[in-house]
This record gives sequence, C-alpha cells and structure tokens, in this order.
Amino acid sequence: MSSVKEYFKGVGEGVKSLLTGMKVTGKELVTPKVTEQYPENRDTLAIPERFRAELTLKYDASGHHKCIGCGICQMNCPNGTIQLTTKMVDLPDGKKKRKLDKYMYDLGSCTFCMLCVTTCPQDALEFTNDFEQAVFTRDKLVKQLNYRPEPADDAPAAPKPAMDPEKLARIKAEALAKAAKIKAEKEAAAKAAAEGTDVKPAAEASSEETNNETSK
Ligand code: SF4
Ligand code: SF4
Repeated sequence: MSSVKEYFKGVGEGVKSLLTGMKVTGKELVTPKVTEQYPENRDTLAIPERFRAELTLKYDASGHHKCIGCGICQMNCPNGTIQLTTKMVDLPDGKKKRKLDKYMYDLGSCTFCMLCVTTCPQDALEFTNDFEQAVFTRDKLVKQLNYRPEPADDAPAAPKPAMDPEKLARIKAEALAKAAKIKAEKEAAAKAAAEGTDVKPAAEASSEETNNETSK
C-alpha cells in the first residue's frame, strides 16, 4: 500500500516540477528579447563610443594627421605593437624637416591599454569602436596607420636646378685662390716672427700705404 502511495507522490512532484519549468518558459516567451541577434542586426548594432577596437591616426578634413614622428608612443607601448620610421623631407621654403614615413601597428599584439593615446603630445591617436576585425591570417592584422597620400602642401619641394658648371668652376677657383693667399700671408707672418721682424699681412700693408699717400 505504501509503495502505491509513494508512486503517486512521485508523480505529483514530477507534475509540479514540470509546471514550475513551464511557468519560467512561458514567462520568458512574453518577455522582450535582450539577446543581440548578430550579425542580422549589424545595421542597428550600437557599440559604445569608448570601446577600444583598433588604433588609428586622427585625420582632419584635408587629410592631414598630426603625428610628428617623435616616437613617444612607440617607446611607451609595452609590447612593441607600434613600429614607426621617419624620413627627412625638403620643405617648399628650402628647409629640411623630419616627417613620419611609416606608422605600423600590429592589432594582433595590442592589449588596448591606451598608453600610446594618452602619452602622445600631439593628440594624434585614437581608438575606433569598429570591432569587426576578424581575419584569416595574422599578417593582415599588421596595419599602416598613415595610409592616406600626403596632401600637396606636405609634399617635398621640387629639387633645385643644378648650377651652371662654368659659374661653379669660377666660384671654386676664386675660393681656392683666396685660401692660398691667406695661407701664404700666414706663412710669411710666421717666418717674420721667427726672424724677429714685423711683417704685416698684405691686406693690412696695402691699407696703410693708401692712408700714407692720402695724408701726403
Ligand atoms: S602618434 Fe604621437 S607620440 Fe606617436 S610618433 Fe606621432 S606624435 Fe609622436
Ligand atoms: S594600446 Fe597599448 S599595447 Fe596597444 S599600441 Fe597602444 S600602447 Fe601598445
């Protein structure tokens, strides 16, 4: 008799448990969904602005970035994610300037610590929130951040035209003659000093002669 009682007691507990589960299922059936249906919702997906997905250089409307190639971000990066090279360029005014050549960033090794961004003296870096960075090979994660062509006003100046060879030879000959004359005068002065006589350089002597003639 007791086994029949236990049997029905077990059936009752099973039904009760089933109804409890069905209650939870029924409640979730009518509750608004919070799970992101990615990638179906790609167009409406809202990623927080501060999400750190990929390092990038800031560009203004004319295509300029503010990086001066100082290398501070590279020095502060804890794991060698940033590798940059610089180059010397001739400016339109004839001066030379060090500029960024290549800014290479390895997204595969970045820890998104943001030290590079916070220590940049030019405020030239930022993180985008574009999280879709999946690729099939790791080498595709190495990116050149200064990928845009340099604006025209940043382009190196055109090389100066070569000097007329005759003019160049004349200037060179004059410079050599002047150097030889100065050397001869110095040698004569040194010789005179050794002999105890006062010999003045030719230029000085001719100046004194002119003064004497004028006073007469
Ligand atoms: S991004 Fe900033 S810190 Fe890095 S090299 Fe350019 S100017 Fe210097
Ligand atoms: S976020 Fe950190 S790890 Fe990534 S490039 Fe910048 S300094 Fe290096």
